[in-house]
Amino acid sequence: MKRPTILVLGAGYGGLSTVVNLQKLVGTDEADIILVNKNDYHYESTWLHEASAGTLRPDQVRYDVKDVINTSKVKFVKATVDAIDVNTKKVATSAGEYTYDYLVIGLGFEGETFGIPGLDKYALSIANVNAARQIRDHIEYQFATWSTEEVHDDTRLTIVVGGAGFSGIEFLGELGNRIPELCKEYDVPKEKVRVVCVEAAPMVLPGFDPELVEYAVRQLESKGIEFSIGTPVVEATPEGVKIKKGEEEFEFITAGTVVWAAGVRGNRLIESSGIENMRARVKVEKDMRAPGFPDVFIVGDCALMINEEVNRPYPPTAQIAMQQAVTVAKNIVALMKGNETEEFVPALKGTVCSLGEHDAIGDVMGRKLTGTKASIMKKVIDNRALYMIGGIPLVLKKGKFSL
Ligand code: FAD
Ligand code: NAD
Repeated sequence: MKRPTILVLGAGYGGLSTVVNLQKLVGTDEADIILVNKNDYHYESTWLHEASAGTLRPDQVRYDVKDVINTSKVKFVKATVDAIDVNTKKVATSAGEYTYDYLVIGLGFEGETFGIPGLDKYALSIANVNAARQIRDHIEYQFATWSTEEVHDDTRLTIVVGGAGFSGIEFLGELGNRIPELCKEYDVPKEKVRVVCVEAAPMVLPGFDPELVEYAVRQLESKGIEFSIGTPVVEATPEGVKIKKGEEEFEFITAGTVVWAAGVRGNRLIESSGIENMRARVKVEKDMRAPGFPDVFIVGDCALMINEEVNRPYPPTAQIAMQQAVTVAKNIVALMKGNETEEFVPALKGTVCSLGEHDAIGDVMGRKLTGTKASIMKKVIDNRALYMIGGIPLVLKKGKFSL
């Protein structure tokens, strides 16, 4: 009998964890497992705010896919997926066309711009490791240019961050530490630099514990970061952003750098795949399959699941992506053996939001944490994610150990 082909798209937390789990459950001669990813490395999306601010180098947030896969069981293909058609079971990639018996789509997130004019063109987004490098280099370029121009244009040194969700706040935490270093490096007086976070909702980190949010805002403000709350960005131009301050009231913030961190959607390839979706996310069945396509699983940020307790989608997180991957791998094996699939039940352990290397806030298993304790917890979580995918060798190679 022909071995089934399991085709996994994307080597992010969802896709790579699925493969790592599959290679434990499937014997060499039981299936052909193919993993397709744009790069021959995995990057830690959860560390991209650090690479974007320049507090970690891009090579520190990535590792080779081949370091964690068993190449006798998994064929790795470095290629870009161009199109998915679940009706014909064909996946077009830059390395040719693939078909499958089981498909796992784990192509991750893209920045959501909500159709706001100019953002696609004039704002930078913490979207992947190269985009993070671009943000870091752009900010450094502005500092370097300021220090060499005869007549200083101080607006070069204004950085606007759109969105005070977890990504925006974590990036601001890193910037708060990085700006003094950049000022020193480029001979820029600190008072010339302005960092403004613009948030549409009436509070920072909407929905998070107010006491922890207050701590975060206080810490960031003490590093000179300004907040403009309840003021959505409505347009971006080459000069900066327009924000809405009242019914008919607008303000323009002239800025050399605009970083858009105001939400995510799924990978756009989902929209033309033939699977029903909302903002490129698929409302999956309880066992992580795409509705109407029993051989297609969706994992990570491309999957949408409703938390019935609050009747809202679970937030797209690495924590959930990695848990889903365990279920997806088990369910593929169950299908191969003709068994029943199991339901995915998230086990949420809490959230820790970094505020720079030695500070954070967290709500973990019902306990509120701030400062060093929260920051240590964040590093434990980061190292745990490495451990889950690559075991102790990966933790030793890439882990965060400084306290
Ligand atoms: P991704 O991690 O985005 O991986 C997708 C993979 O698919 C990538 O390897 C990409 O290269 C590849 N790919 C994309 N398109 C193609 C293509 N066309 N062809 C081939 N390959 C392709 N979550 C937490 O739980 N905790 C945190 O602390 C946390 N911090 C975060 C900090 C930041 C700054 C950001 C932006 C997000 C953070 N998140 C956090 C959310 C978390 O990163 C995402 O939920 C998670 O990355 C989703 O995993 P994924 O596998 O779905 O996708
Ligand atoms: P998000 O959706 O959580 O936050 C986006 C923020 O942008 C919101 O506060 C929203 O009100 C604001 N916003 C939307 N439109 C705006 C506008 N026009 N102008 C100004 N502000 C606007 O998105 P995110 O922060 O990118 O996070 C994405 C996912 O990744 C979430 O699920 C999050 O939980 C997860 N994440 C987790 C962590 C962590 O656990 N430490 C860190 C980063 C991201």
